[in-house]
Amino acid sequence: MIIAIDGPAASGKGTMARMLADHYDLAHLDTGALYRGVAWQVLQQGGDPADAETALNAAQNLSISGISGPELRTPEVAAAASIVAAMEPVRAAILQVQRDFAHQPKGAVLDGRDIGTVVCPEADVKLFITASVEERARRRHAELVAGGKDVTFEGVLADLQERDARDSSRAVSPLTQAEDAHLLDTTKLSIEAAFKRACDLIETHSQEGVRH
Ligand code: C5P
Repeated sequence: MIIAIDGPAASGKGTMARMLADHYDLAHLDTGALYRGVAWQVLQQGGDPADAETALNAAQNLSISGISGPELRTPEVAAAASIVAAMEPVRAAILQVQRDFAHQPKGAVLDGRDIGTVVCPEADVKLFITASVEERARRRHAELVAGGKDVTFEGVLADLQERDARDSSRAVSPLTQAEDAHLLDTTKLSIEAAFKRACDLIETHSQEGVRH
């Protein structure tokens, strides 16, 4: 079973993806971490994330095992990730890695911006998880402060708005809800309640699969 989860930054999609992967015993890929990994490499080398050649070179040398760690979770890396992610050659360079991951024998849970639309349009279940930008900024701000970062709510809100605009308006693989994706708005929903709804959708889908 392939579960595709898309949505804007700090919508709760990562937490949901991890919970579903755990519950259904599936592997999980956070595809945002791939773009963060590319951005991090560029910044490490003192490069400019807006330089297409440097970004592509980093994408071609990216290893899926090197994409975890707190150094990827900073606002600077997030902003640079959304810049490299708008480049078609960068996306093309890491598309197959994502598809191969999804098509392992048991399937997988992938979360990102274009999983249901581009990476796995054939996914068994698609979720589009969102929340108001203020609520997402509140969550991300609390997370960064808990991690010892000196950031203001207004700064986090402005960063998210800028990233939302770039991710949604880019020409290649923009953030959009797939036609057959189920919308889950978590603004007023606890993660437990959202998880329960997601499981209900998945069970319904599995039963339909058995009937056909
Ligand atoms: O999900 P996360 O915030 O870690 O993603 C970082 C950035 O990577 C996003 O702002 C977006 O620009 C990009 N991204 C993407 N497509 C994906 C996953 C992430 O363009 N499938």
